[in-house]
Amino acid sequence: MHEWALADAVLSTVERLYRENGRRKVLSVNVLIGELQHIEMEVFSTGLQDLLADRPFGFDVFHFEIEKAAFRCNACGDRWLLEQHEVLGEDEREAIHFLPEAAHVYMRCPSCGSPDFVLDRGRGVRIESIELEDGGDA
Ligand SMILES: [Zn+2]
Repeated sequence: MHEWALADAVLSTVERLYRENGRRKVLSVNVLIGELQHIEMEVFSTGLQDLLADRPFGFDVFHFEIEKAAFRCNACGDRWLLEQHEVLGEDEREAIHFLPEAAHVYMRCPSCGSPDFVLDRGRGVRIESIELEDGGDA
């Protein structure tokens, strides 16, 4: 189950930050999840709680935030959100959710019309920030 592998990767990253920051208590962790990342949140959350027991730090709160899918044009540098692209219908948007590469079938850069664009954000899982005791974020 890739949710557990992701949960383990998140906790390993938190542990590294915890060690690098004088082992101060971790108060909360903000996790960004790409809009196009297919993940069972309940399984992911259970994985985090379970695997946390094996780590040297304890903390209470995970905050999850969805990172909206965004594209960047290689020709003109413009950026846009998937949900903002006006040409797309519901079916096209859904297709792109499952197969981001399909974006190139349905979309062009809204500024210059170029088909040469890349997915800039909205995939994967990453730690946005962690909050440590006695002030200071990492
Ligand atoms: Zn462009």
